[in-house]
Amino acid sequence: MTPATAFKGRRVAVFGLGGSGRATVKSLVAGGAEVTAFDDSSETVAKAAADGLPTGDLREADFAGFDSLVLAPGVPLTHPEPHWTVKKAKAAGVEIIGDIEIFGRERAAIAPSAPLVAITGTNGKSTTTALIAHVLREAGRDVQMGGNIGVAILDLAPPAPDRVHVVECSSYQIDLAPGLKPTVGVMLNLSEDHLERHGTMANYAAIKERLAAASDVAVIGRDDSISSAMAARLTAAGVAVVEISERDRLDLSGARALRGAHNTQNASAALATARALGVDDAATFAAFRSFPGLAHRMEEIPTSLRPAFINDSKATNADSAEKALASFDRVFWILGGKPKTGGIEALVPFFGKVTRAYLIGEASAAFAETLAKHGVAFEELGTVERATAAAARDAEASDEAEPVVLFSPACASFDQFRSFEHRGEAFRSAVKALDAARAAS
Ligand code: ADP
Repeated sequence: MTPATAFKGRRVAVFGLGGSGRATVKSLVAGGAEVTAFDDSSETVAKAAADGLPTGDLREADFAGFDSLVLAPGVPLTHPEPHWTVKKAKAAGVEIIGDIEIFGRERAAIAPSAPLVAITGTNGKSTTTALIAHVLREAGRDVQMGGNIGVAILDLAPPAPDRVHVVECSSYQIDLAPGLKPTVGVMLNLSEDHLERHGTMANYAAIKERLAAASDVAVIGRDDSISSAMAARLTAAGVAVVEISERDRLDLSGARALRGAHNTQNASAALATARALGVDDAATFAAFRSFPGLAHRMEEIPTSLRPAFINDSKATNADSAEKALASFDRVFWILGGKPKTGGIEALVPFFGKVTRAYLIGEASAAFAETLAKHGVAFEELGTVERATAAAARDAEASDEAEPVVLFSPACASFDQFRSFEHRGEAFRSAVKALDAARAAS
C-alpha cells in the first residue's frame, strides 16, 4: 500500500467505496489525513464502517470543511450529470480528484524521479499495460502494475527511484488526475466509446491528450485520425513524441499472445516504452515471446487436441471480434450472446475466413439471418457447451493444417452469463471437458 503522506492533516471526503475507493480511504488514513468516506448505497457504507473505515454522511456535511473530494472513477464528474457530491464540492470551491492524482502527489513528494508509465487509449490498454510490465520484469526491473487493471494504484507499493509503476488509466481516471506527469505516457488509439461519460468526442480526446502532453516521453498511435493529429500537435508544441503504428515492422514470430495487427500496435508501444526506460531491444523481443497474454483476449487454451482453441470472450462487440477474425486465416467461429446495435453487419468483409459458424444466445436468430444472406454455413446451438463440441468436432475432421476454433462472441454476455469472464470460463471448461474425454477414450 502507498500511504498518502502528502495528504497528512488534510480533510478529505471520499465518495464511492468499491475496491479502489476503499484502497483510497486506507491510503489516506495511513498517510495521516482526516477522512470522511461515503457511498450512495447504505449497505456499502455500513460494510465499510464495520471494517473500521472512517465513514460519515456526506449529504449532511458542509463541504467548506474539506480540502479535497476524492471520487471513485465510476462516479460521474460531468456526464450524464455531475454527481451530487460534485455539485456540493464545486459550490464550496473544493478540488475534485481521484486515486491516480493522490498517487502522483505522493510521488512528487517522496520520489519525484520514480519512473511512472501511464497507459491509455480506447482499446488495448490492459494488454499493453500487462505487456510493458512483463517486459520490464523480464529485464530485471522492480515493477508495480495496477490502476484500471487489477490492483488499485494506492494498493501498490510506494513510488521509489528504482521501482517502475505501470498504470492503466481510463479516461475517467485521467479526468480526475489534473497533475499527473508520467515518465512515459502511452496513448494507443481513439474511437467513439464512453461518450455517455464525456459528452463529446472532442472532450474525450482532450482528456487523453492531457496525459500525453504532460509526459516526459509521449508514445502515441497514429492509426486513427484523431490520435495522429494529436501526435502532430504535441510534436509541434515541443513534446518528445514517439509515434507507433499497427503497421510497424516488428518481428513478433513466436509471440503467440501477440497475434494480429492490433497487437503490433500494442507491442510497438511497449517497445517504445522499454527503449525510453533503457531496456535493450533484444531483451524486449525475448519478453514478447514469453508474454502469456491476458485471459479472455485471444487467449489460447492449451489442450492435446489438434485444433487451437482461442478464448476471446472479451470481444463484446463487433469491433473487437473483427480484431480476432483479422488475426487468423480460417476459423470455426463461435459467436452470439446479447446483441449490440448493428449486430455483425460490420464483420461481413471477414466472412470469407469463416469455415462454419456456431451460434449461441439471444442473438442467434438475427445473426443466422446475416450469415445466411452472405452464404456462411452455420448451426444454432444455444449454449457454449454445445457450440464448442460441434466446432471441435468439425475442426478435428477438417483437412486444414492448423484448424482454429475461435470463441469471439461479438455480443455482451448478460443473456446467459454474469460477465465476459464468466462466459470465457464456460468456454474454457467446455474445451477442457472435450480434452479430458479424448484423453479417457
Ligand atoms: P482495454 O483494456 O482498452 O479494454 P484490452 O487490452 O483489454 O483493452 O483489449 C480488449 C479488446 O480490444 C481485445 O480483445 C481486442 O479485440 C481489442 N484490442 C486490443 N488491442 C487493441 C488495439 N491496439 N487496437 C484496437 N483494438 C485492440
